[in-house]
Amino acid sequence: METRANFVDGAWVEGPDAVSDINPSDITDVVGIFSHADAKLVDRAVTAAKKAAPSWGASTPQARFDVLDFIGTEILARRQELGRLLAREEGKVLPEAVGEVVRGGYIFKFFAGEALRVPGEHLKSVRPGVEIDVLRQPIGVVGLITPWNFPFAVPAWKIAPALAYGNTVVFKPAELVPGCAWAIAEIIARSGIPAAVFNLVMGRGRVIGETLVNHPDVAGISFTGSVAVGRTLAASCARRMAKVQLEMGGKNPLVILDDADLGTAVQAAINGAFFSTGQRCTASSRLIVTGGIHDRFVRAMVETMAALKIDDALADGTDIGPVADEGQLSKDLAYIDIGKQEGAHLAAGGTQLEKAKRGYYLSPALFTNSTPAMRINREEIFGPVAGVIRVADYDEALAVANDTPFGLSAGICTSSLKVASHFKEHAQAGMVMVNLPTAGVDYHVPFGGRKGSSYGSREQGRYAIEFYTTVKTCYVAP
Ligand code: ADP
Repeated sequence: METRANFVDGAWVEGPDAVSDINPSDITDVVGIFSHADAKLVDRAVTAAKKAAPSWGASTPQARFDVLDFIGTEILARRQELGRLLAREEGKVLPEAVGEVVRGGYIFKFFAGEALRVPGEHLKSVRPGVEIDVLRQPIGVVGLITPWNFPFAVPAWKIAPALAYGNTVVFKPAELVPGCAWAIAEIIARSGIPAAVFNLVMGRGRVIGETLVNHPDVAGISFTGSVAVGRTLAASCARRMAKVQLEMGGKNPLVILDDADLGTAVQAAINGAFFSTGQRCTASSRLIVTGGIHDRFVRAMVETMAALKIDDALADGTDIGPVADEGQLSKDLAYIDIGKQEGAHLAAGGTQLEKAKRGYYLSPALFTNSTPAMRINREEIFGPVAGVIRVADYDEALAVANDTPFGLSAGICTSSLKVASHFKEHAQAGMVMVNLPTAGVDYHVPFGGRKGSSYGSREQGRYAIEFYTTVKTCYVAP
């Protein structure tokens, strides 16, 4: 099997090591072999990106549009093939994987358009005859560090705005999913983009990520990943005063009130908590349910869960694929034990499954009789594990929903417009969903949270401009 290389300064460059990319649905299946860069190669990539920054920063909107539109068009045309790669590499089911690829394609298309309309402002000065222009300019070299759970969409929503606003990029994907990252890089390499404007360096966070974060020529870091890494990374960026944007965990509440439509609530909970194997930072891991609907809701959840097919991500009819890797599976199982020890009742699932192929299969776990103070309801597990918390009324539900160090997404199922409007106003989250799962977002509007979930300006949609540009105010006298 050929080793897929890093992409540095317009050329494919092998690093000192290479690792196998393993299919979590079938651990005997090697998806590919990918080169790992070292600190020296990261330095080369940054130096090249720095050299390329002035001319890309001065390139025409048409040139940037053409590059981004080419990338988006090819991704959309190859959605089935790239979706298969994603499902095989990460373990989400094929329809979800194809959906993610499509979303990635549209993100490039969206930012192709944004490259044509980079905004500015023109104002009169308070001084006679003086004119003022407020300009948006690229920040320079950006380091993009991404997680394994959305191997296509997260890179797309960082790379596309970075390039659209005239920055040069050094992209470091998660170790578990080099296949999708490499496929994106390979398309970008053929897009007509000038050499060194986009670079791919694969490898470990501790080596490649840290080198990028601490490099004096990297003007900004956009990171999606764990809270622990995000915190240290923010401190490193602050020390050298680099711009930083972090998207981290969630412990997202889905409130279900007595007046909710039961079918809608169960669909939202099953999708939000368990689809994508629960490996979404927007997953609904806390199901906060009022007394009048609680027992019916739990019964319907258990019945629906029994009918879910957990199997190979590429097999027809699979609802939920495997956990992404062995480490994550052990973590999920450890939290399921913690839940039992804390006194919650495991109402369904939570066991490792044997399938025809050896993979990291786990049946989704639903805990009932759980309380807000339990670790399973406070810490992000990042697996198919959800806790039901019974509450008396909406006021208690809202208080419990907000009682978390996180604040990414919050959902409510209710038929009351008045209550939904109150929740929209008072949920302490960056995104609110009414009668919808907490996960599943559009590509043309801002994404992000508050409290421990996010730091810095929002990603996606037109709000991405905040991170990827700097403002210059120009005063001109005649
Ligand atoms: P997860 O593995 O749960 O997605 P991590 O925060 O460990 O979350 O990883 C997210 C991304 O951050 C990955 O690309 C990883 O390689 C990278 N990373 C991990 N540790 C560091 C670090 N110390 N500095 C920079 N990047 C890191």
